[in-house]
Amino acid sequence: MSTSGGTCCIAGGGPAGMMLAYLLARAGIEVLVLEKHADFLSDFRGDTVHPSTLETMHELGVLDEFLKRPHQEVSQVRACIGGQPIVLGNMSYLRTRCRFMALMPQWDFLDFLAVQGCRYPTFHLRMQTEVVGLIEERGQIVGIRGTTPSGPIEVRADLVVGADGRNSVVRDCSGLAIEDLGAPTDALWMQLSKRADDPHVSVIADHGKLLAMLDRGDYWQCGFPILKGSAEEVQRRGIEDFRAGIVEVAPFLRDRVTELRDWNDLRLLTVKVNRLRQWFRPGLLCIGDAAHAMSPVGGIGINLAIQDAVAAANLLAGPLRKGTVSTDDLAKIQRRRAFPTRVTQRLQEVLRKQVGRDVGKSGTARPPWPLRLLERSTLPCRLRTRFVGVGIRPEHVKSPDIYK
Ligand SMILES: Cc1cc2nc3c(=O)[nH]c(=O)nc-3n(C[C@H](O)[C@H](O)[C@H](O)COP(=O)(O)OP(=O)(O)OC[C@H]3O[C@@H](n4cnc5c(N)ncnc54)[C@H](O)[C@@H]3O)c2cc1C
Repeated sequence: MSTSGGTCCIAGGGPAGMMLAYLLARAGIEVLVLEKHADFLSDFRGDTVHPSTLETMHELGVLDEFLKRPHQEVSQVRACIGGQPIVLGNMSYLRTRCRFMALMPQWDFLDFLAVQGCRYPTFHLRMQTEVVGLIEERGQIVGIRGTTPSGPIEVRADLVVGADGRNSVVRDCSGLAIEDLGAPTDALWMQLSKRADDPHVSVIADHGKLLAMLDRGDYWQCGFPILKGSAEEVQRRGIEDFRAGIVEVAPFLRDRVTELRDWNDLRLLTVKVNRLRQWFRPGLLCIGDAAHAMSPVGGIGINLAIQDAVAAANLLAGPLRKGTVSTDDLAKIQRRRAFPTRVTQRLQEVLRKQVGRDVGKSGTARPPWPLRLLERSTLPCRLRTRFVGVGIRPEHVKSPDIYK
């Protein structure tokens, strides 16, 4: 089957793809998103909606609507390292409209973007459509090949955008060179029920172990980093041993770890950290994790993906409407976003070394001295908060709303 394409075809309906599609449709551009899953519930998705993303929602005039959806508001991001409480970020320092991070399950966030996109006649979203290849003619990418439950499809478009995440098929098929920065850990993901008297912390590190905790109202979505490649060894030691490890780092979960009945209650998520040397080719652009896979450290990859989408829409809405997207236009996006990407990946690495340096090693963790020093100083706390809450080089919506 062959479908005539829109002006822009986006592979992947994650934060980067859905935000870009919404902004382009609002600017009157035909846009089609191909998402491999049947709904937004599948796969692990981080829950952090940063103040900068809330600012984008405000600029789009949909913030109040967005905040009507169930969410938790976190102003202080707290950690407990070696038994010592530490404030990792204090959003009340920010000058953004919302001085908090909204914790909202990402399926709600993506569904919200889909609902907003559907208000525009040129917005199209096709679920259960897995991108498997690119169509290339005379050195130019001119479309996408996909599979659907009813058979293969081909979609042609003026511009193809790879927003299909850290295992991007678009990136792999494009031949674009990738720089692997290495990630020493993977993560095991699990849910544990929440109690009213649980400590309000996002990260606990002790005894060479670390637990990241996302508040989902009545339960915690937890992430437990393990050394890369050690998943089989962890399983071999047995679920009892794993539960004991959780209790060691977070004793208050002692009466709940049996909720992890067997390994089916845990999910292994592989972490990748890399970036493309060049994010584009004629007819093709990669953004978000497809251009630069982010580690979970600091919970900031979603922010970067959204900011990429806003920058891409700002720079592409005009050329797409005129049907004149050139590689110069695509290069401008990389020039704008490569710097924040490089700095963010670097700072994530520094943070990982500071907070997670003892992961996998036995013995009690004390907060490393630079972190203890930072904790005592307001200025570094403000900088840290800005890094997590707003990011480097925040973007503002400049793409037009042609329906206004
Ligand atoms: C373990 C872990 C935990 C993390 N936790 C957080 C966190 O709490 N906060 C945070 O800000 N960041 C977090 N990150 C980073 C964050 O997940 C990413 O940086 C962010 O999701 C990137 O957004 P994206 O839209 O580029 O890609 P993704 O969110 O990966 O979205 C890609 C989309 O493309 C779809 N897709 C994939 N392949 C295809 C295909 N072939 N055809 C069609 N569709 C396809 C996927 O189903 C998905 O919907 C975490 C990362 C990891 C590894």
